[in-house]
Amino acid sequence: MQLRVGFIGLGIMGRPMALNVLRAGFPLTVWNRSRPGVEALTAAGATAAPSPADVAARSDVVITMVTDAPDVEEVALGPEGIVRGARPGLTLIDMTTTSPDAARRLAAALAPHGVELLDAPVTGGDVGAREGTLTIMAGGDAALLERCRPVLAAMGRRIVHCGPTGAGQTVKLCNQIMVALTNLGVSEALALAAKAGVDPATMLEAVSGGAARSWTVEHLAPRVLRDDFQPGFKVDHQAKDLRHALEAARGLALPLPGTALVHELFTALQARGLGGEGTQALVKALEWLGDVWVPRGPWAEGAGEAPR
Ligand code: NAP
Repeated sequence: MQLRVGFIGLGIMGRPMALNVLRAGFPLTVWNRSRPGVEALTAAGATAAPSPADVAARSDVVITMVTDAPDVEEVALGPEGIVRGARPGLTLIDMTTTSPDAARRLAAALAPHGVELLDAPVTGGDVGAREGTLTIMAGGDAALLERCRPVLAAMGRRIVHCGPTGAGQTVKLCNQIMVALTNLGVSEALALAAKAGVDPATMLEAVSGGAARSWTVEHLAPRVLRDDFQPGFKVDHQAKDLRHALEAARGLALPLPGTALVHELFTALQARGLGGEGTQALVKALEWLGDVWVPRGPWAEGAGEAPR
């Protein structure tokens, strides 16, 4: 029997992911807090529901892709939340990046309603969401993951069972540590090239075939040089993920010095009101610190000198 799917949270990631579920042939019911996300999906053939509870009532599997743990708790457990419309046997796949503890708390709160949880955060960015090539890191029951795999395969190419509930979020936080520290390395390299008088585009071209090759070099650094700070992935969200990584590590008495450093730099961006920009804005923190300007945009000139 074809699984009926519900999708809650139609932002930068959720909207293209839901479209891919629809294109794969699953009957889809959607809900989003604001209207534009919903219209993009109903125009493609999805049914709009008036509340998360109503999404649950019409679905076998509900996917959530909101911002953080309190948002998932609101749409899952709130007055109009998923549990209000769920039948026993419903599966909730939470693809939001939260924390291992939050996933375990949510699973415990859902259990009395007969709702089972997979924590299944993703990596691959806005590009992977559009192209259906995300990596999905799942925690929870392995047999449940197998039952849900056809739905996940509509959105992702690599689907990895990481362990019990919370393990998907742990692996996602590991991913975020690596992504953020790579971003810092790329941003520092852009600053050095600019201050030393080397064209940053030339520097990127030279290193991109070697050991420094990465998703960040391929997808984020070119956005800096195009003067494009629109979010694929928001500074606010990366700061949230690094906070979760630091809290998880603190609970294990594990120091993460690099993570703490880059978290402070993202906090500096937030302090200047740049939380809604894409994480490529990290280069701006390096510019402030080093009094340097990484040339970008069609008018780019004056490499190495900070604008006054
Ligand atoms: P986004 O564009 O800001 O979208 C967030 C979505 O969540 C919006 O649809 C928003 O509704 C909804 N939402 C937030 N709080 C809510 C609440 N309390 N109640 C109901 N709806 C709520 O963010 P995104 O980039 O898609 O990211 C979503 C999640 O994926 C985050 O956890 C992020 O860390 C993770 N992630 C993002 C990327 C990326 O590259 N963007 C990659 C991997 C993972 P409105 O439309 O009404 O605001």
